[in-house]
Amino acid sequence: MAEWLAQPPITAVMTVPVTARELTAAKALRQAIWDAAHAQAAHRPLPAEAIETINRSAAAAPLVPELAADGTTAGWAPPVRATQALSTLAREMIELLSGPLSGRIRECASDNCPLVFVDTSRPGARRWCAMERCGNRHKLHGASVSEA
Ligand SMILES: [Zn+2]
Repeated sequence: MAEWLAQPPITAVMTVPVTARELTAAKALRQAIWDAAHAQAAHRPLPAEAIETINRSAAAAPLVPELAADGTTAGWAPPVRATQALSTLAREMIELLSGPLSGRIRECASDNCPLVFVDTSRPGARRWCAMERCGNRHKLHGASVSEA
């Protein structure tokens, strides 16, 4: 979940080439998700334009889940179109923003990181988008400061 907020994996599942129109819609949705997530993290009201864009994307038919032949794994039934991927993404965002985890959307505590993430840890005290990235950098930085 934290991963797609930062970088929606839309193109990863596509089997049909993306049209220019879909690309425009994808950029708009990505911006809307970004704006909405930041507003939520800062406890500001969500921008009306972002809500409209997310709702518009969600109105299209979403991706169709498909059980693989082995019966234990699942994928998306082809053809996978960008419009469907955007709809699924928008629906996940609606669920997130209106669900119990909406209060867990946070801005990364690192000064030079613009990402937002969903804190799904049990204590809910996560501060960085990714420990390997910003958490460790912060630790290294803190160590060098305390030594100086
Ligand atoms: Zn970060």
